[in-house]
Amino acid sequence: MKSLINTQGGIDAPNLLKKCHIITFGCQMNEYDSWRMAQMLSREYVLTPFPEDADLILINTCSIREKAEHKLYSLLGRLKGLKDKNPSLRIGVTGCVAQQLGSQLFKKAAHVDMVLGPQAIYSLPRVLESLEQGKTRLALTRLTDNFHIPATAGPALERNDVRAFVTIMQGCDNFCTYCIVPHVRGRETSRPPIDIIREIESLVNQGIKDITLLGQNVNSYGKGLGEDIDFPRLLTEIDRRFPGLRLRFTTSHPKDLSDPLIECFPGLKTLCEHLHLPVQSGSNRILKRMNRKYSIEKYLERVEKLRAACPSITLTTDIIVGFPGEAEEDFQATVELLETVRFDQIFAFRYSERPATAAAGFGHKVPEEIRRERLCQVIDLQKTIGLKQYQRYENTVMECLIEKGHNMKLQGRTRGNHVVNLSGSDQLIGEILDVFIEKACHHSLKGRIVN
Ligand code: SF4
Repeated sequence: MKSLINTQGGIDAPNLLKKCHIITFGCQMNEYDSWRMAQMLSREYVLTPFPEDADLILINTCSIREKAEHKLYSLLGRLKGLKDKNPSLRIGVTGCVAQQLGSQLFKKAAHVDMVLGPQAIYSLPRVLESLEQGKTRLALTRLTDNFHIPATAGPALERNDVRAFVTIMQGCDNFCTYCIVPHVRGRETSRPPIDIIREIESLVNQGIKDITLLGQNVNSYGKGLGEDIDFPRLLTEIDRRFPGLRLRFTTSHPKDLSDPLIECFPGLKTLCEHLHLPVQSGSNRILKRMNRKYSIEKYLERVEKLRAACPSITLTTDIIVGFPGEAEEDFQATVELLETVRFDQIFAFRYSERPATAAAGFGHKVPEEIRRERLCQVIDLQKTIGLKQYQRYENTVMECLIEKGHNMKLQGRTRGNHVVNLSGSDQLIGEILDVFIEKACHHSLKGRIVN
């Protein structure tokens, strides 16, 4: 859970403006959506890090992880006291859990004023206006197949970061059987390239050095736009226009990882050598039940091709253990896959059911204690593999963008997405420096500045 802190300085904000506190759960897309909501409101509100000072509290929810609803209700319970003290406080729930619950949410949390699904967040100013005009409560959760992400959300907000996210598409057409995203974010829709380029330009002008393009399946970018554009062409265009940038993207579906996209890694100077390629399972039988539409043989062939094209590429992945029907031999196939590919990092989860998904109705559920055991095994194995992978960087020099720092302690990021801890003045934030890697730790590197 993150609170968005206003870089305009919520605390010293002009008294005329109202104050908004935004709490964000979940993924980078949600962080981006929270930022866009802040932009939309910026003519009337400044952000405050303190909920007790706020005139408006927004909770931007995520339903990917377990117990999302439970977490939301417990947070709303804590916020009820603020509403009791200040009845003019507005409370809004946005994002995926809002989409799932709709107006039902008002029954359990009568102090909530508005519920907006991911497509409806762009109506936020209009909804607030309706509330001002006397509407009591509003829930907007209709998903439409013709949804378009608006070009801009409002005036550019000042930033003190060196990294930023830019959503290039929203929704998903893949319907993996365990995943709730297509049910709460709707069908895939891509933003026109011109909107993306303008947004990147504005970020670069504000000093952003590292941009991650976001989408549930960025590899299928461009579908339905009616323009001569696909994802490799979009990357090439960004590379041409912003040669000083570090460019990344997430998430990629292995079935759509094309040869032209692989060629972008050695071919485009701005594109960082890191790919997050979620595999989910090492067993073809389970991949089929998950509706992933690729085989392990195909996945390994893509990895081989990537590594041949760009030997320095860092690979990371997602793994789900204990999917319904996962027998011991299926799990062992996942273990074998981890040993074969040797990812730098994995994000491993035990399967947990999501309402409205196909897998929720599957039989042969794996007992909870076996799911937990398998998760521990996978995490332990990856600890050893990950450390070995990181040790390859010891005694080498890596290019690091210094992202943050305080009291002579700095944190940087390599092009391969490794976090590096080092010493130095915080005046170096935003610089790209050569760093000598002294030591590898489990999830980070320790280094010193070379020059
Ligand atoms: S590709 Fe699959 S896992 Fe990813 S968002 Fe779409 S349905 Fe979910």
